[in-house]
Amino acid sequence: MTLLRPPQPPLRPLDEALAELLGHAQALADHEEVSTFDADGRVLAQDLVSALQVPPQDNSSMDGYALRCADLTGPNPVLTVSQRIAAGASGAPLTAGTAARIFTGAPVPEGADAIVMQEDCELLPAEGDGLSAIRLRKLPLPGQWIRRAGEDVTRGAVVLARGARLTPASLGLAASIGLDRLQVARRPRVALFSTGDELVMPGEVAPEQMKPGSIYNSNRFFLRALLHRLGCDVSDLGIVPDRRDATLAALQLAAQEHDLILTSGGVSVGEEDHIKPAVQTLGRLDLWQIAIKPGKPFAYGRVQDAHFIGLPGNPVSSFVTFLLLVRPFLLKLQGALDLAPEIIALPAHFTWPRADKRREFLRVRRNAAGGLDLFENQSSGVLTSAVWGDGLVDNPPGQTIAPGDLVRFVPFSELLA
Ligand code: AMP
Ligand code: MG
Repeated sequence: MTLLRPPQPPLRPLDEALAELLGHAQALADHEEVSTFDADGRVLAQDLVSALQVPPQDNSSMDGYALRCADLTGPNPVLTVSQRIAAGASGAPLTAGTAARIFTGAPVPEGADAIVMQEDCELLPAEGDGLSAIRLRKLPLPGQWIRRAGEDVTRGAVVLARGARLTPASLGLAASIGLDRLQVARRPRVALFSTGDELVMPGEVAPEQMKPGSIYNSNRFFLRALLHRLGCDVSDLGIVPDRRDATLAALQLAAQEHDLILTSGGVSVGEEDHIKPAVQTLGRLDLWQIAIKPGKPFAYGRVQDAHFIGLPGNPVSSFVTFLLLVRPFLLKLQGALDLAPEIIALPAHFTWPRADKRREFLRVRRNAAGGLDLFENQSSGVLTSAVWGDGLVDNPPGQTIAPGDLVRFVPFSELLA
């Protein structure tokens, strides 16, 4: 008897798979209010509109003297110092023909139109009236060293729009317009589990006690960390054995009160791969063969109200498919608008002689000469490549690479934030 291999489903282009996946990601309806202190990485659920201008008044950007340019005559004019204005104070209108001692951040007095920094003045001793004076070493330009009111933010401006992901600088900007609390998307609740009878947990079995065939569960560690970076609440359900009943039970538990069930391993179609039949029993599942390397098998489905995503087990495949597919999915659930990483064109400083029919994501690192070096072992099991590398080269199908070729570089800094 001849055993016929079942027909292989056609490979799907990554862009098509991503578009379909994102089509399933409806932004979570509920928002929450958080302290601006705690909002880093969260996605704004409101436009931030400024009720004031920043800076509120013209102010000095130097320690020095405020004066009126029209009062100056001759190359080294002398002016009496008529008042002192520190940051936080508000000065009086400038007396004609005088200067005001002023410090960085202090409001520019009415009538002054330039600041001379103290290094450009000679301080003269006080005269009989008790006021000191300054002699200018050089003449100022009108407007110099004045930070204009509203030059950062005008009143009524939208400083950040709904759908923006907050960064440390955006927290500062929100604070600068007086916002101590922000409306953000709620955290997606994600249930995470790893499948595989070969997996053991570091800390539970010492390296010298590992049985043949066992490996440590590495995916659990980076997937959990990646989920946290994306603002998720993670329920870590640990390792689920390669058995149908255990897989069904884990999925049923995970479907409760989670937006997404994320698994690694067991998404192929061997007898030891229980994810597909189990998800199909409880809900529905599409198993995709995506035309990428690493990371071909990928599953999307539903279990009750929860989304289901099954990542491949090989660590680098799991890592790369998370970055390319799960990351934008989770950002879209939070209503984020910017889902695609920036791509930089950089020269390859390596040779990639074997074109693949799949789109490849090679682990590379920028070098001091402005080019990219390739990690020597691109196997989907070699996690060292993802640590050594600082990004991926997105290489189109059928493409070889010669030194000097411009390639598409996606830095991990874009994908891990
Ligand atoms: P699978 O997708 O379950 O067929 O697994 C593919 C390969 O990835 C096998 O060599 C597994 O041992 C390995 N693998 C699966 N899950 C993990 C994990 N959580 N950590 C490390 N390696 C894994
Ligand atoms: Mg497995």
